Amino acid sequence: MDRRKFFHGTAAAAVAGTVAGCASPSTANGDMATARTPFTVAGTFIPVMGSDEKYPVRRIYCIGRNYAAHSREMGSDPTREPPFFFQKPTDAIQWVAAGTTPDHPYPPLTKNYHYEAELVVALGKGGRNIPIDKALDHVWGYTLGLDMTRRDLQRAMGDEKKPWEIGKSFDRSAPIGAIHKVAQTSHFTQGAIWLKVNGQVKQNANLNQMIWSVAEQISKLSDAFELFPGDIIYSGTPENVGPVVRGDVIEMHIDGLPNLSVKIV
Ligand code: MN
Repeated sequence: MDRRKFFHGTAAAAVAGTVAGCASPSTANGDMATARTPFTVAGTFIPVMGSDEKYPVRRIYCIGRNYAAHSREMGSDPTREPPFFFQKPTDAIQWVAAGTTPDHPYPPLTKNYHYEAELVVALGKGGRNIPIDKALDHVWGYTLGLDMTRRDLQRAMGDEKKPWEIGKSFDRSAPIGAIHKVAQTSHFTQGAIWLKVNGQVKQNANLNQMIWSVAEQISKLSDAFELFPGDIIYSGTPENVGPVVRGDVIEMHIDGLPNLSVKIV
């Protein structure tokens, strides 16, 4: 059967792509509301601060080793390494409302579960080969998030030259705050980023210490993947990542955004 016909109608992805002036993805994306399916699969949405709109998440990209001191603590040379990226599954999102401390389950298989505090960029416009000086025009909003990591599994896989997937891309590995529209916050090029565990400061740095700026990240990423509205980018963590155990409370902060907290259970 012709897929275009089968999925005709108001395919959400196609409409979004059209509005943004991009080709729709070449995959068989359709609208769950109109397609006849044997069961439903939930979409992933993040509330938007000060709005009843929700931001639909298409993909979660993450940049690795984007602060020099963190790069060194992970055993890399920050002066030579080009940016590299990995993904988490979209449904790894755990939305955390400002002013709340929801439970975050300690995941299976690990004995070394790490926090990574990160600025998150939410795109509103896609594209390929986006020039650095145009890249920030593609940003729809910002928030803060945790790139939770099963460090022991990540390291073990790295040592064997196998994919990081099991260390990075597991269920609920992406706690995240509400999206703040860029019109309300302006772009984040500097400002404090810190993380506390049980009230004790663990990570404490400045966004201006990123090796690759947000604009450079978008540009580089768009050389490797066609970007679309709904893509979000975890922009890397500063130094002093470390472990949490059940009962710990993580609180993270970025200047200009409400703090994000979770309790490990
Ligand atoms: Mn990270």
